[in-house]
Amino acid sequence: MGPLDIQHLGILGGGQLGRMSILAGRRLGYRFHVYEPKPGGCAGPVADSELNAPWDDTDALGQWAQRIELATLEFENVPRAACDTVGRHVPLRPSATILEIAQHRAKEKTWLSQHGYPVVPFAVVDRSNLATEIESIGWPAVVKTAAFGYDGKGQVKVPEGPVDAAALWQRLGSPESMVVERWLEHQGEFSVLVARNGQGQIATFPVAENIHRHHILHMSLLPARLSAQKAAEASAMAAQLARDLALEGLLAVELFLVDDRWIINELAPRPHNSGHATLEAALTSQFEQHIRAVVGLPLGDPALLRPAVMVNLLGDLWAAGEPRWEQLLADPRLKLHLYDKGAPAIGRKMGHFTVLDSDLEVARLLAERHYQLLAQALE
Ligand code: ADP
Ligand code: MG
Repeated sequence: MGPLDIQHLGILGGGQLGRMSILAGRRLGYRFHVYEPKPGGCAGPVADSELNAPWDDTDALGQWAQRIELATLEFENVPRAACDTVGRHVPLRPSATILEIAQHRAKEKTWLSQHGYPVVPFAVVDRSNLATEIESIGWPAVVKTAAFGYDGKGQVKVPEGPVDAAALWQRLGSPESMVVERWLEHQGEFSVLVARNGQGQIATFPVAENIHRHHILHMSLLPARLSAQKAAEASAMAAQLARDLALEGLLAVELFLVDDRWIINELAPRPHNSGHATLEAALTSQFEQHIRAVVGLPLGDPALLRPAVMVNLLGDLWAAGEPRWEQLLADPRLKLHLYDKGAPAIGRKMGHFTVLDSDLEVARLLAERHYQLLAQALE
């Protein structure tokens, strides 16, 4: 089936990454069908159809697959059985194999280290050897559930001292499998988005620099403040990963810089929060590239048009009602994105804004000031 025969694309997951992928894909003339267990998601309203049913509803998945010629996803924790069901009807890109690696920290870290990629010192553990493995990894350590973690959920940092393994395990929700990692004193967090299509064409976006607050991404700088050599190393590594995984789609590679060396933190086989600035700052956005890559179209040029700084808008900012957007919108270099998510909750990603300026430092200062004004309005 050639790319031009495809008209209807399916998206597994109904959140903002799906919403923005759909908006980009519509410009290329595609129609979109969302599958999402929970009603009320923000991708459905911009799609042609949405089906709400559980991930284990084989009949519903089969019916949904009748609407589409190709499936992709915006959420990597789609259960393997659901991927296989969809895959029996239509191609799923990225492949179920990539999803299986990326949705399980133990498999992901093991695969990466077996393929020669640099990862943090880690051990795969269960309840029985949790305490002993923390001691051998050394302090400070962090314990993460192998499956279903995001935005810092499902992980606990462990300070030096006696370990109460039973309490720790319970705090993590009594998971079957966990990963113990050494907590690294890094010089920064970065990410690279790489796209690869079925013809083997590869394109990497400029490296982004990511600043977190309370384990959630707060701000992304594009491009990262890095030497040309470090940036080139990171993109070469991401391109090699795309080849080794036989990727058809978009992959985000999260990195730590430790003693001037790259360490891979984790992989996400989908558009990524740190790539939102590409909507305005790059010749091709990550969302358009995602669609191009899964369909098998030639990839777009990821080159940066202008430096940009993105800031996440979490539900915390809605504590006193809808924030006053006028002040932000009065800055002509600022682009506001609201996801139409309904009920704001603490830590929930409700939108983001991007400030563009030919000088990255000017964009960073402006972005921080706009954010402070929003936060101050709550005091
Ligand atoms: P997720 O993004 O799925 O919640 P991550 O493993 O990326 O999980 O962890 C979230 C954040 O916690 C990271 O971006 C980083 O700031 C911090 N973190 C996680 N693991 C480590 C580590 N081993 N050393 C230092 N910081 C870490
Ligand atoms: Mg992460």
